[in-house]
Amino acid sequence: MAGMKVVVVKAADDGAVDLDDLRKQCDLHADDLAAIMVTYPSTHGAYEDSITELCEIVHAHGGQVYVDGANLNALLGYTKPGEFGGDVSHLNLHKTFCIPHGGGGPGVGPVAVREHLAPYLPSHAMHPEAGKREGIGPISAAPYGSAGILPISWAYIRLMGAEGLTRATAVAVLSANYVAARLGEHFPVLYRGHGGLVAHECILDLRGLTKETGVSVDDVAKRLVDYGFHAPTMSFPVAGTLMVEPTESEDLAEIDRFCEAMIAIRGEIERVRAGEWTPEDSPLRGAPHTSRALVGEWDRPYSRELAVFPTGIDPDKYWPPVARIDQAYGDRNLVCACPPLEAFAE
Ligand SMILES: *Cc1c(COP(=O)(O)O)cnc(C)c1O
Repeated sequence: MAGMKVVVVKAADDGAVDLDDLRKQCDLHADDLAAIMVTYPSTHGAYEDSITELCEIVHAHGGQVYVDGANLNALLGYTKPGEFGGDVSHLNLHKTFCIPHGGGGPGVGPVAVREHLAPYLPSHAMHPEAGKREGIGPISAAPYGSAGILPISWAYIRLMGAEGLTRATAVAVLSANYVAARLGEHFPVLYRGHGGLVAHECILDLRGLTKETGVSVDDVAKRLVDYGFHAPTMSFPVAGTLMVEPTESEDLAEIDRFCEAMIAIRGEIERVRAGEWTPEDSPLRGAPHTSRALVGEWDRPYSRELAVFPTGIDPDKYWPPVARIDQAYGDRNLVCACPPLEAFAE
């Protein structure tokens, strides 16, 4: 944290940064205000109209604006963080620029700054460019960090070209709005921006349904596995919701397949509401259904077919290897899987 302290700024009811609170916090901390870190478009899935004003307020109080570049694939080709007031931004290459990062790595994030901050960028005594050897010194072992993965982004940019990258942004935003439009009548979309539109992601609010029926966001996420989907981001940034970020890379048929699965799941929730199943006995809580569960004893109040082929017999069905587990347990209980030392004695 480099000696900095975090001051939290409130969000307004529409999910945007509360500018009145921001002004108040800036006034209060003007003597030692370093910077604001802001995500644009926000992870609430909206382009905030007030982003330029937000940057002006922070600048007027002597602070810098750090724009979290994680949502750059809602901007790329259309605008730049520097144009609406950003001083620093990182580009998550493993998000907008195609580096696959399942399972936590690898990630790379070049940091871009306005000219006045350039002298404070990391340098490296072994940098291939002489001008980048002096300065504050290195923050990673090698001048370009994990340079071995950079060719992925380089090839992506070369293959897409400026036009292709701009089109990817448009398609990502269109896909998210398509999902919000199709699913909005089944699950409320928590935040919308200008004209009722979202940015590149939308938050489906399940909290009302959970309260009314007992079916939780976990149940929906696990039931999606039976329909052949890995669930979207769950309970982030808002607990009890799903955040859907389709990106530019799924075709319409796949996005429709996802929407239809969500609509079918909504139908199952209605059957719980109607009293046909209790939440505990429903295929939602029973999900995901493994092949082992299918061939074993069956005492559930719904059919095996509904459990594993909710959309009809599908030869390409994905079979989950494990049923529902206590997902928090594994995070809280460290288990060493290595053989005991004695096993090596022989
Ligand atoms: C993904 C994400 C991050 C984290 O970025 P990593 O480089 O993947 O760790 C931070 N902020 C937001 C808004 C994100 O979506």
